[in-house]
Amino acid sequence: MPPTKSRGAVPEQLGFDGMPERLFVCTPSKLGAFEDCPRRYRYSYVDRPSPPKGPPWAHNSLGASVHTALKNWYAQPVDRREPEALPGLLKATWVREGYRDVDQERVTYRVALRWLETYVRGLDPLDEPLGVERVVATKTAVLAFNGRADRIDARQGPDGPEAVIVDYKTGRSGLDADDARGSQALALYAYAAQRVFRRPSYRVELHHLPTGTVATHEHTEESLARKVSRAEDTARDIMAAERAVAAGADPDAEFPTNPGALCSWCDFRRFCPAGQEAPAKDPWESVNHLTV
Ligand code: SF4
Repeated sequence: MPPTKSRGAVPEQLGFDGMPERLFVCTPSKLGAFEDCPRRYRYSYVDRPSPPKGPPWAHNSLGASVHTALKNWYAQPVDRREPEALPGLLKATWVREGYRDVDQERVTYRVALRWLETYVRGLDPLDEPLGVERVVATKTAVLAFNGRADRIDARQGPDGPEAVIVDYKTGRSGLDADDARGSQALALYAYAAQRVFRRPSYRVELHHLPTGTVATHEHTEESLARKVSRAEDTARDIMAAERAVAAGADPDAEFPTNPGALCSWCDFRRFCPAGQEAPAKDPWESVNHLTV
């Protein structure tokens, strides 16, 4: 297999004296990758060809299947937004990769269906969100941000119509208000939604389908500004590392590893020198506990 090369010769962001720098084009997952581990960022977004990834994860298949089923539930006419529609919707776009065997996949499908049926019973089919899997984009002095929000609800706030950011979660552990408060992705969606829909957007919600719980946080103008500022700092760090590599610096030094618990779940564990120290996980490990 040919070695991967850092795309150092063609930096994405090139500034010239006296000229404004190009904006850093990013999504929440791109920023999050660098914050979690600069090396993972490099493997995902800089090295070309990208290093080989490990096999697909069952939990990613489960998450994608549930998200798509909910998207398609909202795409139906209002009079067909019923729990009875879910088996067909889930089956139609079920992602099969990563499971140990067909038996485990069947169990997971039934669990996912149960989560979805419980969840949509708590929804008002007449509610028309502002967006479902909606891309919102905006610019700051540093960022050209875009991201796909799971759902953006139109709700009535104390001072009029608001946009509420909803993110579906299907992982094992429950979530609390600190998770909602700390999520940079949710804050950036809210920041962008304010500009796209021209209405306030401060409330962010994590809807955890396995437990049916909702973790919420009400941002303020200041807290959103802090999240944007942090995202801009991350973008500057990324651009500086890319520029340094373009100027001949060692890519391993500019994009260091950040070994830790995440390594076992990293797509590049087998390729990364630090990741090889981490215990391997089976692709289906995080759905093993599911039972009907
Ligand atoms: S295995 Fe760990 S250190 Fe290596 S890229 Fe992945 S997260 Fe970073």
